[in-house]
Formats: sequence, structure tokens, C-alpha cells
Amino acid sequence: MQYFTGTPDNPIRVAIIGSGPSAFYAAEFLLSASNAVVEVDMFERLPTPFGLVRGGVAPDHPKIKTVTRAFERTAQHERFRFFGNVTFGRDLTHSDIATHYHAVIYATGAQTDRRLGIPGEDLPNSHAATEFVAWYNGHPDYAHLSFDLSQERVAVIGNGNVAVDVARILARTPDELRQTDIADYALEALAQSNVREILIVGRRGPAQAKFTSLELKELGSLAGADVFIDPRELELDPLSAEYLRSGESRTAVRNYEIFQEFARSRPLAKPRRITLRFLLSPVEFMGTDRVEAIRMVKNEICEREHFMSPCPTEEYETIPVGLVFRSIGYQGVSLPGVPFDDRHGVIPNKRGRVINEHGERMRGEYAVGWIKRGAVGIIGSNKPDAQETVEYLLRDMAFHQHFCPANPSREAIPDLLQQRGIRYVTYEDWQLLDRLEIERGAAVGRPRIKLTSVAEMLNALESARQTATL
Ligand code: NAP
Repeated sequence: MQYFTGTPDNPIRVAIIGSGPSAFYAAEFLLSASNAVVEVDMFERLPTPFGLVRGGVAPDHPKIKTVTRAFERTAQHERFRFFGNVTFGRDLTHSDIATHYHAVIYATGAQTDRRLGIPGEDLPNSHAATEFVAWYNGHPDYAHLSFDLSQERVAVIGNGNVAVDVARILARTPDELRQTDIADYALEALAQSNVREILIVGRRGPAQAKFTSLELKELGSLAGADVFIDPRELELDPLSAEYLRSGESRTAVRNYEIFQEFARSRPLAKPRRITLRFLLSPVEFMGTDRVEAIRMVKNEICEREHFMSPCPTEEYETIPVGLVFRSIGYQGVSLPGVPFDDRHGVIPNKRGRVINEHGERMRGEYAVGWIKRGAVGIIGSNKPDAQETVEYLLRDMAFHQHFCPANPSREAIPDLLQQRGIRYVTYEDWQLLDRLEIERGAAVGRPRIKLTSVAEMLNALESARQTATL
């Protein structure tokens, strides 16, 4: 393929918006392109990189977080730059990008929650699980929140891995949590928690739960909580029984075995209990000053367009609970000047190439990760996803399908941000914050104590700069 840009003298300049896994995988593929020289500038609205690896992955899953080692290698590349604390659409606009880059990749993930759309959803003590997750992970936008952990009975609505994360963090003992990098204020609040029972409620049956088996099984080995399933919950309707028999989904079969193990196990009278319930859809959160109960409709599995759907029956159940986490999926948020599909919460695209409302390709614009395909998949799913987008981007470059930047010089962006008074954070700055957090943790025998406000992070950097110039 013959490139007109993409030479050492005239590199392809790509801006990536966001710095989570899909952003870093896209950067890695761009920087390792064999037939073009690409420069990557990554913009992140927080001073810290890594998106959901820092702000979403559960603190008691440190192994998953080691994926950042690969991202760190990418960040060391001479043609890579990180600009943290820069908000797209405010500090840096769509038109700035078109002036300085040949292409942009949106990697902004899914920053908000889906809604149930039922009465009482916004009562006090009803929260999006996404907020709780961001809070216990020390995300600066959520650090100010508080959760009423004086309640004894909590419901987590949804049968995905986020529901499992939330239930597990609620069930962990203070000693278990202390060994993690959970935000220090969350550790303190959870250590005082009164929560005794955590109900995980699915609208479909045990054969349709979306948990991955490893995460589900882990619930059975918590120091301070038993798992309970009434064996009657595991009775299968004919559709579900046939689905499991077919072996179509190994995860579903394995999950069902784990549910059976849970149903057989004798409770060890641990201080907390996680109870799994199925085939129940919330129809109303009841209460006056806060959630006091959830009215649920009993579902049965029925086939709709070859899909095992939850179909409501005439039967209802009211479950008293004092706190609810709605864990029914993440949802993407629109970006200024970028097409958006409200219904699916994604940037409309064909295999990563952004399209407008007429289905036409938007020259120079691409998407990766959850903002491209919706909030599904684990961290590793972003690798092939990013590869696909980058392949199309590089192919389009060869056919001049890119922005024609008036000023593609490397210096233009730092100059522009400085002129606008934006205190951007470089990758070296982040490494300094990283070291500082680890030192703070080491002083009290924890892996890390996160800085949880942007001001705190910028001040820490300022002090370090002043010390360095003394
Ligand atoms: P998810 O896996 O899509 O699960 C969402 C759950 O909410 C499903 O059980 C879904 O039921 C239910 N739901 C949706 N709408 C509902 C409604 N109106 N009423 C009641 N229930 C409703 O989403 P997630 O848990 O947020 O996870 C997002 C992605 O991140 C997933 O791919 C997950 O595997 C991944 N993740 C991975 C890990 C890990 O690997 N450790 C940790 C966290 C997250 P239906 O199935 O009936 O739609």
C-alpha cells in the first residue's frame, strides 16, 4: 500500500479520545503499523489514565489490573504522548482535532447507567451500580457520594459481572478490603456497614445469567459471607433445560453447575449472606423517604424471536429492602460534535468507521471499545475490536480518506493547551502520581492509596515540580 502521509517526515497523526483499554490497544496497533509511521496523542479528561481498569475493575481483582503493564509499554513509545486533564469538547474541540490531526479515534467507553424506567427508581437509597463502583474505586467524579450502609438488606438488580462485583464488595470483610486499593473513604464506610443480606436478582433464569463462571464461583469462597440459593429457584422450564442440554453455551452450563453447588452447600453461619433470586423483574421501588421494598413481577422464560425472554406472569412478590443497586448495564454518553445513537448509547459506526445519520462515513473519524459496540465484553475483547478499527483507519489513509489538517505539527497541541491555560498532565506526571499513591499505601501496609480528587492530584504535581526546581 502506498501512503502519502505516514512517512517519518510526514507521519499520520492520530488523536485518541479516552485512555481506557480500547484506547491503549488502538494506540498499540497504530504505533506498531508496519507500513506507516503514526504519531498518537491520547487525551483523557482525568489526570489519570486506564479508564475502567482504574475506575471500574473491582479492587479485590488486582490480577486483572496488571494489564496496565502492557499499556505502560505502549506509553513509553517515542511517538506516543498522553494529555491528561483535557476534556474533549471543552478544552479541545472537534475543530481543533481536524486542524491538527489526520484522524481521531473515540474511545470514551460507557460512562453512565441504563435506566429501569419504573416508579420509585429515583427514591433515596436507589443507586446505579455504576456510581457505587466508581465511588469505591476513588473516581474523582463520584468520591463525594455516600451510600446508606446502615441498611441490613440490600438488593442488586441484574445478573451480570458488575452485580457480582457489587455484591462481593458489600460482602467482603474489612480485613479483605484493606488488602486492596479500594478508596480509603470507601474502606472506612464499608468497615462500618450493617449490611447482612445481599440479594442478587435476575429477570431471567439461572440458565440465562450473564455472570462469567470464575466470578460466580468466587462468591462461594468469601471469608465473611455464605451464598444461598433455594433449590426450587433452579428448576428449569423446558426452553432453559433444552438450552443447557444443547451445550450451546459452556458458560451457562458451568454457571448452572455452580448454582447447584451453592444450593447444596450448607451455610457456615458467616456474618453475611448473598442470596440469588431469579425470574423477577422490579416493577416499582416502594417507600416514602427512601426505598423500603421492591415490588417484583414473577417472570417465565418464553421464546421471542429465537431469544429466551423474560415474560411477566400475573404473580407478584414484594421484597423488603433498604438499599438498591441497579446493575443492568452501562450506557455510552454523546460527545459534542460527534454523531450519536441514543437508542443503543453508541457512536454509530460500521466496523469502527463513524457514520452520520444518513449512514455516510465521516472522514477521519473512528470509534473503539464500548462507545463503538456497547457495554459488553471483558478487557481482552477490546483488543480485536481496536485492531479492526485501526486496520480500517490505516486502509482509509492510503485512500486519502482523512482530515486535511492545516497544522499537523507536533508542537501545536501543547502550545494550544498552554495558551488556553489548561494544566495538562503528561505520562511522566501520571507516573509520579502513581508512585505517590503506592508510597502512601506502603506507609500503612496497603497496595496503594488513591488520590481521589483532581485538585489533590494537580496540587501533588505542583509540589513535586516546585521541589524539583529547588
Ligand atoms: P451485563 O453483563 O450486560 O448484565 C446486565 C444484567 O442486567 C443482565 O442480567 C440483564 O438481564 C440485566 N438487565 C438489563 N435490563 C434489565 C431490566 N430492565 N430489568 C432487569 N434486569 C435487566 O452488564 P454488566 O454487569 O454491567 O457488565 C458489563 C460488561 O462488563 C459485561 O460484558 C461484563 O462481563 C463485563 N465485566 C466483566 C468483569 C470481569 O471480567 N470480572 C467485571 C465487571 C464487568 P438480561 O440478560 O435478561 O438482559
